[in-house]
Amino acid sequence: MQFDVIIIGGSFAGLAAALQLGRARRTVLVIDAGERRNRFASAAHGFLGRDGAAPGDIIAEATSQLARYVTVTTLKGSASKAGRTEEGFYVETRNDTFHGKRLIIAGGVVDTLPDIPGLADRWGTSIFHCPYCHGYELDRGPIGVLAAGALSMHHALMLPDWGPTTLLINDSFVPDDAQRSALAGRGVAVEEGRVRRIFGQRPTVELANGRTIEFAGIFTLSRTMGGPIAEQLGCDLKDGPLGKFIGVDEQQQTSVPKIFACGDVARATGSIALAVSDGSMAGVAAHRSLIS
Ligand code: FAD
Ligand code: MG
Repeated sequence: MQFDVIIIGGSFAGLAAALQLGRARRTVLVIDAGERRNRFASAAHGFLGRDGAAPGDIIAEATSQLARYVTVTTLKGSASKAGRTEEGFYVETRNDTFHGKRLIIAGGVVDTLPDIPGLADRWGTSIFHCPYCHGYELDRGPIGVLAAGALSMHHALMLPDWGPTTLLINDSFVPDDAQRSALAGRGVAVEEGRVRRIFGQRPTVELANGRTIEFAGIFTLSRTMGGPIAEQLGCDLKDGPLGKFIGVDEQQQTSVPKIFACGDVARATGSIALAVSDGSMAGVAAHRSLIS
């Protein structure tokens, strides 16, 4: 089957791209595996007009609005491979091969979490990475920053704006004198020991010496990774602080002509609002490129 545009990933970024293309009456196929990055969180914050909504509700509403556009087709499934053809691109799923003149990669990223017992179970409910998304709801209660290297200094220095903060070093780096005085300047307490596990409704950390500290919430850094398709197609990747992402210009154009990328997969750090913004741009830019 031939489409004007194939979009890999049908969440905030991919659906925003599809909306613009559908409104331009272009034929679009959105292939989505349904593994949104924030599926672990019951509420999403900071997205203007939908602050506090369940992320799944935002997607369900977007999907039903998109269904009005007759040229947009959505397919539940995973794009396993993509490559070039004379006219554009082919994309394979388990059972089919689809053709598109343009490709938009909007597959998001996968989080790799620090390997500590009890952490993954609490991801998105009491352990988070984004203070803007989940800091306010902690009501100025005590906050733990579980370090994943020196990059966590950034987290530790930010979080006192949301509550009294303790940096849990977890043997991940050794703060130097300048770092220690910066932490002290922001009133951040420092716990040196390794974290053995996290337990409890209010996330409670057990240190190697057996001592426990209870928090209203914990913040940590994940490593992020996009899918292999951009690399298969030869798109340039950039190094971000948390992982590689697809390099794009202001129009969300990748280094490969006719391939656009948007959302978390194409930025160093992301949010729903930014994914929607990038996706809208990618949809418009893909449309313009079909005309010129
Ligand atoms: P995603 O939403 O991750 O969607 C990518 C989609 O593409 C998925 O459905 C995936 O299955 C699909 N896909 C991937 N590869 C393929 C493939 N090969 N074939 C088919 N489909 C594929 N942001 C906020 O603004 N507010 C919040 O409160 C907030 N809370 C968060 C809580 C947690 C725990 C996490 C981890 C993130 C949170 N975020 C929040 C960030 C937000 O989730 C992301 O910025 C946003 O989801 C990015 O949208 P996206 O469309 O780029 O990617
Ligand atoms: Mg951009």
